[in-house]
Amino acid sequence: MSKNVLVLADVREQKLRNVSFEALAAARMVAEGGQITAAVFGSFAKDLVDPLAHYGADRVITVLNPELDQYTTDAYFQAFKKVIEHVQPDVILTGHTAVGRDVSPRVAARLGTGLISDCTNVELVNGQIVFTRPIYAGKAFVKKVVKDGIVFATLRPNNIAAGEPDGNRTAQVEELQVDFAPDSLRTLVKDIVKKSAGGVDLSEARIIVSGGRGVKSAEGFKPLQELADVLGGAVGASRGACDSGYCDYALQIGQTGKVVTPDLYIACGISGAIQHLAGMSNSKVIVAINKDPEAPIFQVADYGIVGDLFEVVPLLTEEFKKL
Ligand code: FAD
Repeated sequence: MSKNVLVLADVREQKLRNVSFEALAAARMVAEGGQITAAVFGSFAKDLVDPLAHYGADRVITVLNPELDQYTTDAYFQAFKKVIEHVQPDVILTGHTAVGRDVSPRVAARLGTGLISDCTNVELVNGQIVFTRPIYAGKAFVKKVVKDGIVFATLRPNNIAAGEPDGNRTAQVEELQVDFAPDSLRTLVKDIVKKSAGGVDLSEARIIVSGGRGVKSAEGFKPLQELADVLGGAVGASRGACDSGYCDYALQIGQTGKVVTPDLYIACGISGAIQHLAGMSNSKVIVAINKDPEAPIFQVADYGIVGDLFEVVPLLTEEFKKL
């Protein structure tokens, strides 16, 4: 049976994040010929219609209120709820990002529906939408279906492949007016202070060079940054490194940090505690560099190098420079 699917576009700095395209691919998988609607918020939203259409949206709803230019819980909550009431979707998909994680449970609670969060896969089995999500900090996976009501899920970035864009696709565009009562917006974004992993967004990086306590100092991260720069990747860290003050917590990967799924994860001087693995064990290829041959990180690594990271990392950088 065909389903109407609504995707909330995930926007940062007025650009669509990849997870929006991944959600559209997931929508196509489950819609069974039904309409795929994307909702995009902000005064600049019209500029984002084309890419959403190219990646599979049949219809794009824009909400151009400038109060939505930056994410705030109250404004997004009200706009998203209004879009849902307008579209009446069977299925709602958002990214499992800072935005999706905040707004989706609120809206689900208000609508009286359930929410399946942090899904790493979606498939259609005998007409039923089956979501896969990790449990026990990624040690196991569970499959979930919604028996009745709206199917609402957040999708972990970098797990479902975005389709190939089709530059000839167009979408029906609709502008929805959403006005906010002045006292209904309780937060005001005055300033945004960026703490980034160099030039590449850690949660969307295809290559991550990550450092642990073995890096020993802030200075010790320099060779890792050099390797990341040569590979066009980002630098990440274990909590051990963050707690020791070697780097900012914005770089932390793991259960209480960012969850990443790059094509290549190079762990340098990281022991491989379960809380760290929870954030990176779904990486496609894992390379571990550690002095200790018994370090647990080697159990999840595809390639292991037993050695001193201060010797190995610069050698890798030199070799990659030659390519
Ligand atoms: P260590 O365990 O100290 O390992 C350092 C490694 O470096 C060792 O294996 C050592 O052999 C190696 N080494 C030392 N010198 C060199 C060298 N010169 N060359 C090569 N290798 C070298 N951790 C996270 O990472 N992310 C989280 O989100 C997270 N959340 C947590 C949540 C909770 C509730 C708790 C209790 C813990 C959490 N932790 C998290 C902490 C986690 O348990 C570990 O303490 C932490 O991951 C250890 O960091 P590490 O591997 O850098 O340090």
